[in-house]
Amino acid sequence: MASQRKLLILGSTGSIGTQALEIVRHNPDELSVTGLSANTNWQLLARQINEFKPSYAFIKDAQLLPDLRSAVSHNQTRILTDQNELLELVKNGAYDVLLNALVGFAGFIPTVEALKSDKKVALANKESLVVGGELLREYCQRDHRRLIPVDSEHSAILQCLTGEQDDTIEKLIITASGGPFRELDPARMKDIKVEDALNHPNWDMGAKITIDSATMMNKGLEVIEAHWLFDLPLDKIEAVIHPQSIIHSMVTFIDGSTKAQLGLPDMKVPIQYAITYPERWSLETPRMDWGVQQQLTFTPVDHKRFPCYKLALDAISEGGYAPTVLNAANEVAVERFLNKEIRYDHIAVVVEKSLEGISPGSPITVGALHEADTETRNFAQQLRLNHS
Ligand code: NDP
Ligand code: MG
Repeated sequence: MASQRKLLILGSTGSIGTQALEIVRHNPDELSVTGLSANTNWQLLARQINEFKPSYAFIKDAQLLPDLRSAVSHNQTRILTDQNELLELVKNGAYDVLLNALVGFAGFIPTVEALKSDKKVALANKESLVVGGELLREYCQRDHRRLIPVDSEHSAILQCLTGEQDDTIEKLIITASGGPFRELDPARMKDIKVEDALNHPNWDMGAKITIDSATMMNKGLEVIEAHWLFDLPLDKIEAVIHPQSIIHSMVTFIDGSTKAQLGLPDMKVPIQYAITYPERWSLETPRMDWGVQQQLTFTPVDHKRFPCYKLALDAISEGGYAPTVLNAANEVAVERFLNKEIRYDHIAVVVEKSLEGISPGSPITVGALHEADTETRNFAQQLRLNHS
């Protein structure tokens, strides 16, 4: 095995971050941690610092610094709260792989800075590609293998593509569980409670992506993610509902042959693959029992039932700043729903209204994307909704 890989994990206290640290725990000779980061969860960050002894740790909420310090017993870790210092670490830190497990637009700039600095990025933060896919592709034009997906569908596609030529791809088929409301009468969508939407049938994830999975905005974001990651036009990317979440995605090639990647739903598989890529390491995780009768079913995505999915496809077709606006409006709408300020079916309304206000953009730059994000957030936050 190659020399020890050093990881910088942003969002280490989240669902992906904690699973990544489980992988580190199981591979102490092969993996180590250069840096960890959290938004507010200082208690868990302190435990992680004490266990993994990183050189750096970042807590976004500076007011929590005294609490964090008092709980840290390993005093060789330098604790940062200044965003610029964190970005400096991303650009010039002594690490091999950045695992970006931040949620939302907050993950975009770290991805930009790491790729511009020729670093390797294991990307869970799909919002980075939704917001600025075109720029990110440019940054790693010389070596696309520096940007490796953690998302299970994109990891499945990457695994199917290994050993294949790009010009032999006919279609990517991205599978979707369909979430908890796959069969719910659309008339009842307005009554959906936060607790119901947070109850995903197959995956245990952070709150934002769980709501995105229920609305299927997540699948729309994933189509955009695949478009940029694999450099394919939208008509070569299709999503299908596969409620069992056993096939994580598929690729059909020009000879009509289809390859798929299968397994029980467990994010540790794609997280580890992204960290070790192009190597594949062993992992103790429950295996499929192929001796037991299985049913794998597929249905198309119903655009009426899942308006957020359709809005995402429309946004990427429109291009320019539309996906940035879609993303920002969705982040705000999901937060407002989680805070019980708006109804579940209003998430799509907030996104739709935000996209209506979009003005044709100037050339795409990081600064202009930031501006579009901020403007949309203000609009979506203030939008009043009709409750009839
Ligand atoms: P979580 O909400 O569980 O974790 C998010 C992490 O980011 C936490 O460490 C959190 O810190 C930190 N964080 C949140 N907001 C900010 C901010 N504004 N600035 C800095 N840090 C912040 O999210 P997930 O792990 O579920 O998801 C992470 C990313 O991975 C998302 O883009 C998601 O779409 C993607 N993904 C997740 C999957 C999953 O199974 N969870 C599957 C596929 C993709 P704190 O704990 O202090 O709040
Ligand atoms: Mg996914």
